[in-house]
Amino acid sequence: MMISRRRFVVAGSAAIAGSLAMPRYLHAVPRGTFTPVRRNVGLYTDRGGTIGWLASADALVMVDSQFPDTVVPCRDGLRERSDHRLDRLINTHHHGDHTGGNAALAGEAVHIVAHRNVPDLQRAAAERSGGGEPTTADLTFEEHWEEEIGDEIVRLRYFGPAHTGGDAIVQFERADVVHMGDLVFNRIPPYIDVPGGASTEGWITVLEKAHETFSDSTVFVFGHGNPAFGVTGSRADLLVMRDFLSALIEHVRAGLGDGLAVDDIASIDRLPAFPDHFNPDRPTGLQGAIRAVHADLTRNP
Ligand SMILES: [Zn+2]
Repeated sequence: MMISRRRFVVAGSAAIAGSLAMPRYLHAVPRGTFTPVRRNVGLYTDRGGTIGWLASADALVMVDSQFPDTVVPCRDGLRERSDHRLDRLINTHHHGDHTGGNAALAGEAVHIVAHRNVPDLQRAAAERSGGGEPTTADLTFEEHWEEEIGDEIVRLRYFGPAHTGGDAIVQFERADVVHMGDLVFNRIPPYIDVPGGASTEGWITVLEKAHETFSDSTVFVFGHGNPAFGVTGSRADLLVMRDFLSALIEHVRAGLGDGLAVDDIASIDRLPAFPDHFNPDRPTGLQGAIRAVHADLTRNP
């Protein structure tokens, strides 16, 4: 299976890196790449959030749509794997790097599905950024949605505010593959969208619920990842993300307790206990996350 192979490659290269001083980020997630995961389910990586897909003779589902320019080559590549109509486009949440390609698929997707808060969050974000009217889901759900599509069962769950106020967890039950959207930033500091309904403490609860819901054999797909760790993982990685969020909260609380200003609390690029959590593409990511947690913890009700 590709996951264990990739792990092997990462472990092997780490050993080599020690002796030959190989570049640190050897395993950058390749752009424009289709990666089968299990049983007709796979992922596509380019710019923006990881796209998930189910492509078989009797079903075609896409999870997230990145951007207008990257979703087109993804759609074209999927056509080579399935000539079925596009049954569903699922949005894991409202962010533009996950929904920006919606318009390009709207003409052919039978339905666009998302948590019920997502269309309003998309519109509010578009208004704040001066963007035009976004293409939003026409089917929404509150806590749970499921559908048999081809020979797969697709389930969406909402466990409460976390990365945003409308994060869906997408399960392909028979493949035992789960797309977490941006509920997991794999070993990089997360974006925490406080104006978009995020809750850092809620996020911790959501990851624990997801950990209970799935199993050690489940393969998880993550919205974003550190190039050295990739965008897939196991149930244990959910708890790594949880622990990182806990450490973030602890760091901000300690700074507040010491009477520090937010600029001082945010003047680090790594949390001491999490040296791997660093994004070479966004070196100030931790500062942004700290500022968001600060805003989250100190906001006026
Ligand atoms: Zn996001």
